[in-house]
Amino acid sequence: MEAFDLKLQARSEWVKSTARAMGFLDCRIAKAARLEQEEAFLEKWLRDQKHGGMDYMSKHFDLRVDPRKLVPGAKSVIVLSMNYFPEEALSDQGPKLSKYAYGRDYHKVIKKRLKEFLFRMEEQFGEVQGRGFVDSAPVMEKAWATRAGIGWMGKHTNVLSKQKGSFYFLAVLITDLELASDGPVTDHCGSCTACIDACPTDAIVAPYVLDGSKCISYFTIELKDADLPTEFAGKFNDWMFGCDICQDVCPWNRFSQPHQTEEFLPKQALQEMDRKDWERLEEEEFDVLFEGSAVKRTKYSGLMRNIRFLNLSDRKPD
Ligand code: SF4
Ligand code: SF4
Repeated sequence: MEAFDLKLQARSEWVKSTARAMGFLDCRIAKAARLEQEEAFLEKWLRDQKHGGMDYMSKHFDLRVDPRKLVPGAKSVIVLSMNYFPEEALSDQGPKLSKYAYGRDYHKVIKKRLKEFLFRMEEQFGEVQGRGFVDSAPVMEKAWATRAGIGWMGKHTNVLSKQKGSFYFLAVLITDLELASDGPVTDHCGSCTACIDACPTDAIVAPYVLDGSKCISYFTIELKDADLPTEFAGKFNDWMFGCDICQDVCPWNRFSQPHQTEEFLPKQALQEMDRKDWERLEEEEFDVLFEGSAVKRTKYSGLMRNIRFLNLSDRKPD
């Protein structure tokens, strides 16, 4: 029994040190089991229509709550975080872009690393069944991140930790490899309400409850309508793609360290954009500026819709 446990520990240590060597910020492990508690919460959240028009959230319900349905024989869920906190924020003299979208599309960057990770696992342990997920519909990354102790779920509903804050992507690798599980960490939000107070659209409707259909990230990225709802005009604080406000004000993000991932650096041309450049942006320029970027999700028409919406009343006096 002891020898088996030692092997388990050694395997888990190998997984964690390999993750660090591959540039992941953190790596923790949870046992692959049905997410029973989260299942009830997700059901209610969907029933209350808190997902807005994000229909994909309501699909694959059974897959989302049970990793063994995604990888038959799954034993462990390896949860990884990857830092995107920039050395310097882009200028706030024009419409703002969420920090996570400064560089190359994180889906592409992280998926490639997850593939490489699986390959290295097979080299080390022989045949391993596994699937990597990054921000993809059938996996509840945040739930796994809190189970494994990457951090706790903050009142803004992002996962955060005392040492690393919350400016990181989450990815999950479900595998049939048996590994030692880590446990959750305690919540250190305490009596703080900075994120709730700072949210300009009151999207954090109660501590730990986000109404996704009121969030600027949802409006500027997910909502495909030709126009944004006028009742929110003047409330976007100049955010044209995503919104970092609730994370920027979080005291635990004072300790965020800049990332070291070249792919996440903004292009020079992006750093030089000012308000006028954004307003006059042509489709060809958009394609060059955001080649390989997550901003492409909104398409040119979506980004320009967002910029026009800011101009309705968000524009600060010159
Ligand atoms: S991302 Fe912005 S709009 Fe959404 S909850 Fe946070 S502060 Fe509010
Ligand atoms: S701002 Fe305060 S309440 Fe919100 S997540 Fe951070 S610590 Fe928690």
